[in-house]
Amino acid sequence: MAAQQRDVIIIGAGAAGLMCAINAGQRQRDVLVLDHARKAGNKIMVSGGGRCNFTNYYIEPNRYLSKNPHFCKSALSRYTQWDFIALVDKHGLPYHEKEEGQLFSDLKSKAILDMLLQEVADAGAQVQLKTEIESITPLDKRAAPYRYQLTTNQGTYHCQSLVIATGGLSMPTMGASGFGYQVAEQFGLRILPRTAALVPFTLQPEEKNWTEPLSGLSTPATLSCNTMSFTGSLLFTHRGISGPAVLQISSYWQSGDTLEVDLLPGLELDEHLKQLRQDRPKVELKTVLSEHLPSRLAKALCEHFFTNKTMSELSNAQIEEIAQQLHHWQPKISGTEGYRTAEVTLGGVDTDELSSKTMEAKKAPGLYFVGEVMDVSGHLGGFNFQWAWSSGWVAGEVV
Ligand SMILES: Cc1cc2nc3c(=O)[nH]c(=O)nc-3n(C[C@H](O)[C@H](O)[C@H](O)COP(=O)(O)OP(=O)(O)OC[C@H]3O[C@@H](n4cnc5c(N)ncnc54)[C@H](O)[C@@H]3O)c2cc1C
Repeated sequence: MAAQQRDVIIIGAGAAGLMCAINAGQRQRDVLVLDHARKAGNKIMVSGGGRCNFTNYYIEPNRYLSKNPHFCKSALSRYTQWDFIALVDKHGLPYHEKEEGQLFSDLKSKAILDMLLQEVADAGAQVQLKTEIESITPLDKRAAPYRYQLTTNQGTYHCQSLVIATGGLSMPTMGASGFGYQVAEQFGLRILPRTAALVPFTLQPEEKNWTEPLSGLSTPATLSCNTMSFTGSLLFTHRGISGPAVLQISSYWQSGDTLEVDLLPGLELDEHLKQLRQDRPKVELKTVLSEHLPSRLAKALCEHFFTNKTMSELSNAQIEEIAQQLHHWQPKISGTEGYRTAEVTLGGVDTDELSSKTMEAKKAPGLYFVGEVMDVSGHLGGFNFQWAWSSGWVAGEVV
C-alpha cells in the first residue's frame, strides 16, 4: 500500500503535541497526530488532582530546571501564560487561583482536554490513537519535500516535518514510554541522564517506624536541599513523605544528598521555650509542641526524639537540642517513589541539540522535540503544562 503523505506528523497526543497541532493546523498545514494510547491527553485528565493546574500567573525562566537555564526563555516569552489564559477565556471555562499564581480549572480536567481537542478539530488537524510506531526512516532527497517515513501498525506515512511530543518516563500506566529518547538516539542527539522528579520520598525503616502511623497527616514545613528551599505542606505517607513542598524539593535532591526539614518555620523555638520556662514552668513539652504542630505529630516527635518534660525541667542545652532537631530534622531517606508516581522526568534530550526558537534538531532538519521529552522541567504549580504549551506552540509556528 502506498504511503500516506502529510505535511506534519506529531507523535504524542499530550499537552505539547496537541498545542503544536493547533498552531500548525491554523497555518493550514495538513497535520496528523499519532498516539499509541487509547485516549488523547491522559496526563491532562489526571492533572492537578482532577482540576488541571493549567498554568501559573508567575511564569519565570527561574522556575525551570535545565542544563541550559536560558533555553526556555524564547518559547515562554512567545507563547505566554496570558495566551493560554486567553484560550481558556475564549472557551468560557471557569478557573481560579489556588495559591502562588497556580491556575486550576473549576471544572474537571476533561474540560481543558476537550477545549484542546475542539481547537485541534477546528484547525483541521487529525488525531489517530492506538497507533504503534514501528520505525522512523529519513527519506533521501528524491522524496523532497517529504523527509521522514514512519512505519506503524496502521500503515506507512511520509511527512515533511516530524514532531516528537512523547513526554517523559513518569507514569507508564498513562502511556509514558522512552520512545522520544530512542528517536533522539537514532538521530545522534545527546540525551542527559533522567530521574524521576516532583516525586514523594521513601524513608529508611528506622525512620518509617515512627512516621508511618502519621500517614495522612500534613503540616507546614520548609524543606531545604542543595541551596534550594521550599515552604509548603509536608504530608506523611505509608512509605515516607510527600506533599507540595516535598515534591518541589525532590527535583533538587540526588541519592546521598541530605534533606533538611524545618517543622516549625517562622518560629524561634529556643527563644519561645526559654520564655515559656519562665511564664508557664509546669507546662509539658508535648503540650507546647501541639500548640504549633498537629497534636499526633507533636506526640510522636516527643516520643521519638525527646523525653516529655515540663518546661522548668529543661536546661538551656536541652532546649537548644530540641530546637535544633525540629528546625533541622534530617529524615533518613531511602529514595524516591520513582516514575510510578513522579509528575515529571528531569533530564532528557539535551537542549544544546535543539533550536530554542523552533525546537528543531540541529543535526536533523525537519525533526522537532517539544514538551517534557527534552531537558526542561518546571516546578510544581502549572509550570510544566506552560512549557508544553509554549514549546508546542513555537514548533507549530514553523513545522
Ligand atoms: C499525575 C500527574 C499530575 C500532573 N499535574 C500537573 C498539573 O496540574 N500542572 C502541570 O503543569 N503539570 C502537571 N503534570 C505534569 C504534566 O502532565 C506534564 O509535564 C505534561 O503532560 C507534559 O506534556 P507532554 O506533551 O510533553 O507529554 P505527555 O502529556 O506525557 O504526552 C505524551 C504523549 O505521548 C504518547 N506516547 C508516549 N510514547 C509513545 C509512543 N511510543 N508512541 C506513540 N505515542 C506515545 C503518550 O501516550 C502521551 O499521550 C502532572 C503529571 C502527572 C503524572
